[in-house]
Amino acid sequence: MKVTVDASVCIGAGMCALTAPAVFDQDEDDGTVVLLDGTPPPGLHAAVRQAGRLCPSGAITVLDTGDPGDR
Ligand code: SF4
Repeated sequence: MKVTVDASVCIGAGMCALTAPAVFDQDEDDGTVVLLDGTPPPGLHAAVRQAGRLCPSGAITVLDTGDPGDR
């Protein structure tokens, strides 16, 4: 799994940091998303997908790279 974020469209809703705090954080100043781990371990994939679904701005992109944890 490969995760990317586009902070330029992020509206700082914070759903990502609440849902997968090991992968997403928020900028201290403007609240926009900060990616902590672009290749999260399999145990975090479900939470990362959930964060991607919950993000209201489409700022999170989750790419399956074919590793075992992607299923
Ligand atoms: S959930 Fe989406 S809009 Fe909200 S802080 Fe995270 S990336 Fe930004």
